[in-house]
Amino acid sequence: MARILVTNDDGIYSEGIRKLADACRGVGDVIIVAPDREQSAASHALTLNRPLRVLELQKNEWIVDGTPSDCVNLAVLKLLKETRPDIIVSGINFGPNLGDDVTYSGTISAAFEGALLNIPSIAFSALVGEGFSFDPCAEFAARLTRLVLEGDRDPNIVLNVNFPTSAFDGVRVTRLGKRIYTEGVIERLDPRGRKYYWIGGEQPTWHAGEGTDFEAIQGGFVSITPLHLDLTHHASIARLKHLEETLGPRAGA
Ligand code: MN
Repeated sequence: MARILVTNDDGIYSEGIRKLADACRGVGDVIIVAPDREQSAASHALTLNRPLRVLELQKNEWIVDGTPSDCVNLAVLKLLKETRPDIIVSGINFGPNLGDDVTYSGTISAAFEGALLNIPSIAFSALVGEGFSFDPCAEFAARLTRLVLEGDRDPNIVLNVNFPTSAFDGVRVTRLGKRIYTEGVIERLDPRGRKYYWIGGEQPTWHAGEGTDFEAIQGGFVSITPLHLDLTHHASIARLKHLEETLGPRAGA
């Protein structure tokens, strides 16, 4: 039986992780290692400045008082050291992870942590709105997980899957879209007259670029975007090469 590690950033008590784990039980042995509370927008953070506590809630189900990346590290390098997972699935996140937002996402970072540990990983997120249900998303997630387990697995590539709100009409393999940043920072006063701030707060909007993840879910399709961790902008290497000379040790000598 394949071993499937299930994690998320919404925490162990979220509906999305429960539905994902239950659906994956039809595909393999499910092990849940998840944060004990919500860690959305935790990005790729690792906890290095305090001890981490792990609690076994029941067989094959642990909670960690840390980030999604902490969970994957503890799971792969400690809890499942002798029984390494064959695949990591993260989600299903309450809310989409599209375009520029992928760098904030704890859901996707958990999957990237899997890729760093050389384990094929998939992140699942859903645009939640009226009439939404996790059930068809979880069923789809289990089918994709099975396909990845049975097919060619490239552990360096993370699949970022986003579901539309309503029943989906099919699948689009997409690129990341571009977010329009409009919401800014909201300033308020607390009861003692001191200022405090909320980052964001309003619904994000997106450029409707062709072939993007945003376009796909707007059109009622499931979006699958292949991601990799190499953030190098290869085209700029040649353009910046002259800096080796102009800023080099002998510059101006
Ligand atoms: Mn989340």
